[in-house]
Amino acid sequence: MRPVLTQKVDAEYLKALRFFKAEFAELKLNLTGHTNRKMIESVQLERLKKLLCQAEQFSPFYYERFKKAGFRPTQLQSLADLQALPLLSKKECIQNHAELFSVKARPDDYIYSATSGSTGEPVKVVLDYFSLYYYYIAARINQVQAGLKLHWIPFKTQHMYLSALPGVPTYSALMPYFNFSRMYKCVNDPALWPDPFELIKFISSRQPQTLASDPVALKSLMKLSQAHDAARRYAIRPKWIQSTSTRLEPQDRAELQAFFGCPITDWYSLAETGPIASECNVHEGYHLEEFLTVVEIVDEQGRTLAPGAVGEIVITNLRNHVFPLIRYRSGDLGAWETEPCRCGSKLKRLIRLAGRIHQCFIDQHGQRQEPYVIYNLIRGFNLIEQFQVVQDQPRHITFKYDAPRSLSEAEQNAVTVLIKDTLGATFTIDYMRLRPVYSPGQKPQPYLCLL
Ligand SMILES: [Zn+2]
Repeated sequence: MRPVLTQKVDAEYLKALRFFKAEFAELKLNLTGHTNRKMIESVQLERLKKLLCQAEQFSPFYYERFKKAGFRPTQLQSLADLQALPLLSKKECIQNHAELFSVKARPDDYIYSATSGSTGEPVKVVLDYFSLYYYYIAARINQVQAGLKLHWIPFKTQHMYLSALPGVPTYSALMPYFNFSRMYKCVNDPALWPDPFELIKFISSRQPQTLASDPVALKSLMKLSQAHDAARRYAIRPKWIQSTSTRLEPQDRAELQAFFGCPITDWYSLAETGPIASECNVHEGYHLEEFLTVVEIVDEQGRTLAPGAVGEIVITNLRNHVFPLIRYRSGDLGAWETEPCRCGSKLKRLIRLAGRIHQCFIDQHGQRQEPYVIYNLIRGFNLIEQFQVVQDQPRHITFKYDAPRSLSEAEQNAVTVLIKDTLGATFTIDYMRLRPVYSPGQKPQPYLCLL
């Protein structure tokens, strides 16, 4: 049986309408203001002040924190003044959940969101509806910049969000700010459909103009289509693809672009905040959502780093006043690009998004290493459908993979040599063939450091 398609028209539509004006204003601000540095900074500072004043007034946690630091939001002169406040860790978020909350918030104003918790307890945060709907407006900004025109007749444009998580219902909803286009959420786990061909037919019959998903789900759709519809009678031809959740590898981008025949924009977004940064048409780094976010890059001691140096991304989320995140340690690594972007936008750019700290392995000298070098080799083995490389002990890696047969000794050796070259000769590696690697509902994490 195919997942039931329900229409969330009423509830979603009414909520979306409530934010129509605010969303539209944000769209306009972004599209007109992104080349005016002075305007960007003044909007940012004004919004930061407002967030801090609200946090002091309505969140018991921040009231205490500001008092202890002698911090007065009304006296804020520049973004640098924020550094008088301590950083906010995930642990603090978990321990002080109730106190972080704004006492002014009513249940009608928010929904719960949580991180996947792949390396520990999930961080449960609260998103207001503006943050929730901002996902779509950020996508719209990207689409306008990519030159994508929506169908001028309302209700005609179709968007689709693909998710591999079985908990996501397949439904459609109307989006007023997208020229009343229809948004589908669709579970693309083939195991939940009568046969994979049904899934391809379903997506093809809707002909979504835009497709949003993570690279793993996009690749799985491509492979399904190649395997079950080689003649491409039910071709899926979006005009724009948005990739989120995990880093989009250059090779994957090339393959997906060639198959779907459209550009792909990569996004950096967190479950705790919503979109943080996204690529422009030039695809050289990620422009920050500066009108709604303040980002700092810090070292392990929390000191601000010079542009170009890789450090932890620290976020102050200006859009969500219900559950303020001020100087929040994201656990992600990145660096500032200092050169202006060729696209003309003056919004700051993040480069070298090196992934989550817990995706970086620790080599035998105790240094964090980007895991992506392993990826090229694994790609060479066409038979590997899914994999997960886990560092479970200081000098030990467990390599889990899903393939129709076990890797030969020579193939295992090739992987072993590469891991040892990257992390150190003292490493040992165990191989585990699992079908599948990820249990249903588990977020795919190709690289995981449990130390
Ligand atoms: Zn740009």
